[in-house]
Amino acid sequence: MYIISACLCGVNCKYSGKNNLNDRCLKLFREGRAVLVCPEQLGGLPTPRNPVELNSAASEVLDGNGKALSNKGEDFTKQFIDGAYETLKIAKELGATKAILKEGSPSCGSNFVYDGTFTGNKIEGKGITALLLENEGITVFSDEDLEVNNSKLVYLNEFDREKAKKRRLFEQGEEDESYGEEYFDLTENLTDMSELPPSVEENVKKLMISLARDLMGFEEIDEIAEATGLSVEEVEEILEEE
Ligand code: SF4
Repeated sequence: MYIISACLCGVNCKYSGKNNLNDRCLKLFREGRAVLVCPEQLGGLPTPRNPVELNSAASEVLDGNGKALSNKGEDFTKQFIDGAYETLKIAKELGATKAILKEGSPSCGSNFVYDGTFTGNKIEGKGITALLLENEGITVFSDEDLEVNNSKLVYLNEFDREKAKKRRLFEQGEEDESYGEEYFDLTENLTDMSELPPSVEENVKKLMISLARDLMGFEEIDEIAEATGLSVEEVEEILEEE
């Protein structure tokens, strides 16, 4: 079960009263694999509301040494922290181990947030809910992780299980020439992830493994490896960390 930012599934809970609809997230929700949360609403804030940014790192805000302030100077720190703990409570009750949260949000961001000046400047950092969930062992993906290596994810979405089985047969010594011609290299379109920062690359790999299991129903490690284009060792290592 995933926890997903409600705005990613079309709920108009953004500060502006709009949403951030993402088709992949909506698919997970429609399949009954996700529960939606909006930490800011769970913390008691209305929608629409003034935009908020953190004036310190999320860890400092959680420790009482920083604040979540609106562009009008309102202090919403308590609501942000309450919403993060409410989200954590829901995740624990559900036994959720994965979350897909909206990138850049002072609650939900997992790779970057805005710098507290309301000038549109992004800095590395996390939102309060994302940090709290990660501190509690929940793997947090961002909606942008879903897009970071698009060709890999398109490949994964279009993965053909039957062809993968044929590939395995072929590799196991199938002599029939036509069988070989029918087969095409499923990994040929994979792009190199070496340009990505290590933490993003790791997140993309975890996400691909999750999608291979949850969207496509692969259970065996070698199947997951085949579907994602990762090595069996990489898959094993990532699954052991979960
Ligand atoms: S708090 Fe999270 S779920 Fe709610 S609107 Fe902001 S990004 Fe979306």
